[in-house]
Amino acid sequence: RRAVERAEATSSAVTRDGRSIEVAANIGNSDEAYLAAESGADGIGLMRSEFLFLGRDSAPDEAEQRREYQTSLAALDGKPVIIRTLDIGADKQLAYLRLPEVPNPALGVRGVRLWHDQPQLLDTQLRALLGVEPLSTLHIMLPMVSEAGEVARVRERLEAIATQLGVVERPRLGAMVEIPSAALCAASLAETADFLSIGTNDLTQYALAMDREDPHLASRADVLHPGVLRLIQATLEGAAGRCPVGVCGAAAGDPLAAALLVAMGVDELSVEPARVAAVKAEIRRLDAASLAREVPALLAMPNAESVRRRLAERHSDAA
Ligand code: PEP
Ligand code: MG
Repeated sequence: RRAVERAEATSSAVTRDGRSIEVAANIGNSDEAYLAAESGADGIGLMRSEFLFLGRDSAPDEAEQRREYQTSLAALDGKPVIIRTLDIGADKQLAYLRLPEVPNPALGVRGVRLWHDQPQLLDTQLRALLGVEPLSTLHIMLPMVSEAGEVARVRERLEAIATQLGVVERPRLGAMVEIPSAALCAASLAETADFLSIGTNDLTQYALAMDREDPHLASRADVLHPGVLRLIQATLEGAAGRCPVGVCGAAAGDPLAAALLVAMGVDELSVEPARVAAVKAEIRRLDAASLAREVPALLAMPNAESVRRRLAERHSDAA
């Protein structure tokens, strides 16, 4: 029985109507990369590199970072690994960075915005990333992107550093879509980025103006709100034919939301390692085309509860 479960977890997830969906894992360090590989993940969809920088007195140097990234690539043994550059600010602060204290850190200098004042941090991280091999399986992803120019500037730095280092191959460079402006401008973003990954945790927070850390709002900050779903649809429409789109927020691991995301056209879901097998099982029982026909009606609903109720009914009918 364990062998059957293992075979199901590691084999690829194909919907009943024949769409093949990549189910990758979210990790915070290289130990979790082994867990992810063990879970049957098709790759790493999000390595939150900021965990390497937290809980210490100074930033990890280039060599330490490279070891951690290289170990993660080795653990996945040739499967794609998306490493996100430092996403510090808002809920995650570093004592040694001394970011200015502001009343609204979630709307302040965080993610890719940090590079304006801390260019040496980016350079060190890019050098460490360019030092791993094979670069063909490494994907670099930028957090908190609000427009294509931010991706273009990092690509210029990446080019310059790769040239300095004499590195010939280039890793793919992608952007997270977690700010409504990025979702609405997805077409231009997809011209500049090699792939997009929707961060539904922040996208929900910024679309609904509901702090993701506020326990009073936790039950209402739902990715299934039609307003958030419309931003996801805008992202998919903007990117269509230009670059692939994945989802790496918690919604990817929520069975009802995951099915809807696939029906809407998402190519990859990245979830906690412990959720990989369950999400693959969910995809295998999904008729994506049939659910896709309901998307316009779902988007026209007045709130998240109605969408969730409708998806739950379909889900139990299919069981
Ligand atoms: C997200 O915002 O959905 C995301 C995946 O990034 P994080 O949770 O690390 O902010
Ligand atoms: Mg985020």
